[in-house]
Amino acid sequence: MLFEELNITTPLRNALDDLGYKEATPIQEQAYPVVMSGRDMVGVAQTGTGKTFAYLLPLLRNIKFSKEKHPRPKILIVQPTRELVIQLVSELEKLTKYMNVRFAGIYGGANINKQKDIVYNGIDILVSTPGRLVDLSATGVLRLIDVQKFVLDEVDEMLNSGFKAQLTHILDLLPIKRQNIMFSATLNRGVDDIIQEYFNDPIRVEIAKHGTPLEKIEQSAYMVPNYHTKLNLIKYLLHDDEVKKVLIFAARKKWADRLYEILSEDFDGEMDVLHSNKSQNYRIQALQKFADNEFRILIATDVIARGVDVDDITHVISFDTPDFPENYIHRIGRTGRADKKGKSIALISQIEEEYLEDIEELMQMEIPKLDMPEDVEISEILLESEKELSNQRNNLVTIKGRESRGAAFHEKKAKNMKENLGGPGRRNPKKTKPVNRAGRRRKSRKK
Ligand code: ADP
Ligand code: MG
Repeated sequence: MLFEELNITTPLRNALDDLGYKEATPIQEQAYPVVMSGRDMVGVAQTGTGKTFAYLLPLLRNIKFSKEKHPRPKILIVQPTRELVIQLVSELEKLTKYMNVRFAGIYGGANINKQKDIVYNGIDILVSTPGRLVDLSATGVLRLIDVQKFVLDEVDEMLNSGFKAQLTHILDLLPIKRQNIMFSATLNRGVDDIIQEYFNDPIRVEIAKHGTPLEKIEQSAYMVPNYHTKLNLIKYLLHDDEVKKVLIFAARKKWADRLYEILSEDFDGEMDVLHSNKSQNYRIQALQKFADNEFRILIATDVIARGVDVDDITHVISFDTPDFPENYIHRIGRTGRADKKGKSIALISQIEEEYLEDIEELMQMEIPKLDMPEDVEISEILLESEKELSNQRNNLVTIKGRESRGAAFHEKKAKNMKENLGGPGRRNPKKTKPVNRAGRRRKSRKK
């Protein structure tokens, strides 16, 4: 839809003309009437789809020139990082070129007294990171009692960065009567919790379901009986020349470190590991080196790899299967960037099959399963958690067909057992018994 068709004012139209933007993106088109209506809203669309203007345009369309000498902010926009605050302020500058609106961006690490002055002088729109917002309101200079529109942008990012407490604090400072607007690239439980608790019957605008797999990414999975076999498989995969630049995901810091240690035996000097226990400096440098091809294998946890924007990652390997299915989608999105093709390989142990089901359900597709390469040795060593599962399964008396999606895999294994074929490279069929998992519950991981 053309911007002309949206009911925006001439000053905004002119600003958009200056920017050369003619057509609204889908999220902009659909969010516009909802934000205008004053209803609470939750907008979900992938990164780079124009979410910022999706709320700025209708908010600026509605904003009234304040006659007060020192207005308190009526629109409050919270962003997870200082960079995003700065970026948003620059977008506001462009959009309000022909308007009379006062706004400012505040964030930590900058002089708080200057920010106090700015706030005291009066602004209509305040853009802030959560931390500095809390600090500034604690000084008493910043008062949020006039806020009518509250925008939480990049909420998933905000929660990943551990801002939950600050957010809750801010939400409690706001007047009860207000419009809540949220934008996020993904939804997850943390985001849902905030919506449940603080939003009033929001209208949801979702573009291209967050589950849509990226077409340039070739996905595959190996069903692997246990952890030690995974180790054998990943070593095998990493020896492939095609694997030029690979990001390997581990679900926990400790597991990432352990994997790093084990793989170092074979790939010393070709790899590094990143997680939140590493210093910020270390993380930035390691990422830079990875981007510069100084090493080829990077092991990381989900939280860290979330922002990784390295263009030419050829492979993403999920060594552990994520228990939050959205994380899988974030993971594979690290490859296939900037018009390049990428491959995603998930290693799924029996204990993780339920996570795979959740992922496939979210994406509304099955991930193609690959046969275990002949040369990969099937280990019989089991972790404690794997022993537990294997015992549970052995104790089941009847084996029923299952309705869930993993069924084919189990049936195949059952057949292998009966005929004692073992399948390609599967030398330990006893370890892979079918099981009736009806009524299963999501359990927390252990190892
Ligand atoms: P998101 O928040 O969804 O990741 P942004 O709002 O940051 O995306 O927008 C991504 C880029 O697209 C920005 O550079 C923005 O200026 C540009 N952009 C936004 N809307 C339009 C549009 N309607 N037409 C062309 N470019 C746009
Ligand atoms: Mg954004």
